[in-house]
Amino acid sequence: MLQATVLTANEVETPYSAVSLPFSLHKIPGAPVYYVIGLSGVPDSVNEGHTSNAGFVVTNDGVVVFDALGTPALGYRLLQRIREVTDKPVERIVISHYHADHIYGLQAFKEHAGAPPVWAQQRALDYLGGSTASQGEDAARRLAQRREALFPWVSKSTYVVAPTHTFDDKMTFTVGGIDFELKHLGPAHAPGDIIMLVKNYGVLFSGDVIYKGRVPFLDSPETDTSHWLEGLESLAKLQPQPRYIIPGHGDISNDTKKAIKVTQDYIGYVRREMQKAVEDLIPFDEAYDAVDWSQYKNMPAFNASNRGNAYRIYLEMEANNLK
Ligand SMILES: [Zn+2]
Repeated sequence: MLQATVLTANEVETPYSAVSLPFSLHKIPGAPVYYVIGLSGVPDSVNEGHTSNAGFVVTNDGVVVFDALGTPALGYRLLQRIREVTDKPVERIVISHYHADHIYGLQAFKEHAGAPPVWAQQRALDYLGGSTASQGEDAARRLAQRREALFPWVSKSTYVVAPTHTFDDKMTFTVGGIDFELKHLGPAHAPGDIIMLVKNYGVLFSGDVIYKGRVPFLDSPETDTSHWLEGLESLAKLQPQPRYIIPGHGDISNDTKKAIKVTQDYIGYVRREMQKAVEDLIPFDEAYDAVDWSQYKNMPAFNASNRGNAYRIYLEMEANNLK
């Protein structure tokens, strides 16, 4: 049923310019839970910004969407995929965290799906300039960068859609008899990282707390890797364990401990190396060059992310040492 005609077309027109890469929809066996998987690597004109995952849950009373992808065009493709499965309205969109690769698609839902409510953890508001000016500037700088890197999919007419609803620590809701739970796991990758559990079916949408198939992105000013590791541990202890984990990037998994391992190991390794350097008062550049990166060097996004990640952690370790 899902292999509709659009699926095989190479190029699909959207009101935000055409998407030419395949945009396959997948389904969790035995559950009304659907998802798309982005390509590995950082957003560029080759992958058309399709680097993150998103998904949706079809209930009798409407569709709950998790994340909105990295361009309005991709958000529109996601909406098209939803329409191939159901004509139920989009009841709400839950955003894992306010980073460009997960939110620019919101514009398509706002303009073509009746502007459904957008839920996020309250620190998403910081991203939009809520508490300090510099945070709003980060969002503006990122949008300017993407207008260059992802033109024409991200252009002058692209804008960031703010959440309409926020929550703090935890929230549960039921739509069409399906129970959902949102939990704040940040600050981790981002201050407002959340996960969404689809309780009736044991499906966990983890957002960017779990990365698969690429070097994680830790280089956000508020990345907090010690809290991130705690968050991953709490996922390993979830009872019952999720049957399926849909991460923010990379393939799905059916084993939580395995799913979190790559992210856990990477963060642990960079932390240990940078901690040593900070203790020995070795300047960052020298420390970075001395680390053996061979186990990560061939992973997608290594060149784009690894140095910034290490530097961010170096600063974090330095700050911890002063405490
Ligand atoms: Zn992401």
